[in-house]
Amino acid sequence: MDLGIRGRRAIVCASSKGLGLGCAQQLAREGVELVMLARGQEALEAAAAAIRAETGVKVTTVATDITTPEGRAKVLAICPDPDILVTNAGGPKPGDFRDWSRDDWIAAVDANMLTPIELIRATVDKMMARKFGRIVNITSASVKHPIESLGMSNGARAGLTGFVAGLARQIISHNVTINNLLPGPFATDRILQTAAARAKDSGQTVEDILKARMAAVPAKRFGTPTEFGQACAFLCSANVGFMTGQNLVLDGGIYPGTL
Ligand code: NAP
Repeated sequence: MDLGIRGRRAIVCASSKGLGLGCAQQLAREGVELVMLARGQEALEAAAAAIRAETGVKVTTVATDITTPEGRAKVLAICPDPDILVTNAGGPKPGDFRDWSRDDWIAAVDANMLTPIELIRATVDKMMARKFGRIVNITSASVKHPIESLGMSNGARAGLTGFVAGLARQIISHNVTINNLLPGPFATDRILQTAAARAKDSGQTVEDILKARMAAVPAKRFGTPTEFGQACAFLCSANVGFMTGQNLVLDGGIYPGTL
């Protein structure tokens, strides 16, 4: 299926590894020019070089922290008018809410709610003027069903989801959509980090925790960044202009609801 986005420009946030990288790879395979960013330069350059070699698309890299105003300004100076915006950043730390300070909460809200909103604010009017825009927020299945140890993720990401639900309806008549992708367990560094934290608290090994986690997934496996990226590319398709404000759960069947 031709997604009709060849030659479009995308900013893909937090994309040197994991789910962001999966999105960047799939958009590049559809012929989309990329601005990729992450804090660490080495992994970012390696990821960009691999995408250029495979697809031949133009890829610009920005080594920066997207959760800071300076980081966002750097990225937007390089690409002030993307056609596609994929928002993403590291997730909040797991733990017990009794141990989290106000500063911890502000950092989580900054990274997982206000950073995407700031990026949308900086780009959406230009998308509306050009009559094309696709915004995809990488959030978490924790928005749909809370994950006990990830209270800050449950809270901060739900705030973004609520905001986006309202905005999506105000902009779709200009062929600009906003949808959220809600990952369940995917095989990336992040799942290893959360398993390591759980292992420390419970005395189990990381391997045992991962095995139990996988057994609890109806698909009996973790998702792959490629599968995630393909869903992202679909939402960015020129043909998907009638779907907005949606929360697409990719979790191998974990969420038990009928609808
Ligand atoms: P990952 O494999 O650890 O990759 C994270 C990527 O984001 C890396 O490229 C990292 O590079 C970059 N990054 C992190 N913080 C950044 C920042 N402040 N500014 C710029 N780049 C940043 O994680 P992932 O699994 O892809 O997860 C992506 C998001 O999905 C996270 O918010 C995570 O909580 C959420 N999520 C993941 C899963 C899962 O199972 N994997 C499930 C639910 C939700 P640098 O470190 O070099 O910056």
